[in-house]
Amino acid sequence: MVNLEKELELRPGDTEKYLLSRRKMIKDQIVARGIKDPAVLKAIAETPRHRFVLENLEPSAYDDTPLPIGENQTISQPFIVAYMTEALELRGDEKVLEVGTGSGYQTAVLAEIVQDIYSVEINEDLVIQAALRFKKMGLTNIRLRYCDGYKGWAEEGPFDRIIVTAAPDHIPESLIKQLKVGGKMVIPVGDSEQELILVTKVNKENYSKDVRIPVRFVPMLREEERKN
Ligand code: SAH
Repeated sequence: MVNLEKELELRPGDTEKYLLSRRKMIKDQIVARGIKDPAVLKAIAETPRHRFVLENLEPSAYDDTPLPIGENQTISQPFIVAYMTEALELRGDEKVLEVGTGSGYQTAVLAEIVQDIYSVEINEDLVIQAALRFKKMGLTNIRLRYCDGYKGWAEEGPFDRIIVTAAPDHIPESLIKQLKVGGKMVIPVGDSEQELILVTKVNKENYSKDVRIPVRFVPMLREEERKN
């Protein structure tokens, strides 16, 4: 169990401390691999990734890799966060649902771009940590819920965009239902190796699938699996 108090203390010189590492990460890992959307680059530049990792891993926060966040889960690799965010083609007025809050890093990046972000997480400890983190960082436009993301967040739907950051073996029907017509969802689908799929809901009954890049996410758990 993580020591929450210690983990969430404001660390001195926080935002400035890693400015250079963050700039280098954006240049070498994100821009160099083709990410262009200025809103995405700005959001990543303004989000202190080191605040979302365990304190002992802080010096590695800007490395080109996912990192453990406790509870057998990981914070996604910076490029993948940028890629998925860009794929959503956000203008800023969209209502967005995220499935798999985890550390909250992807959530915070989205919260820099859009006004309304909803995020669900199946692990209670991670939800609590993310909520405290957002509070400390003054991020007030994020709503969190502790629940099984296969069900989405029906009361708040439909959404303009959905981003899923854990991998199911198929596209959950309830998430398609909660997507507005014309809306987009980015989701990794598969077993140990997955494909990142961009879903566009073309009308009430149909959606198109655009297979993008191979990815590796932690599996999306079922409520039953979580309890075992
Ligand atoms: N976006 C996160 C990625 C975290 S890893 C980050 O950058 O930190 C994926 C997360 O999905 C884990 O926190 C895991 O607990 C969560 N998860 C797995 N199955 C889920 C489900 N069925 N519903 C909601 N969250 C789930």
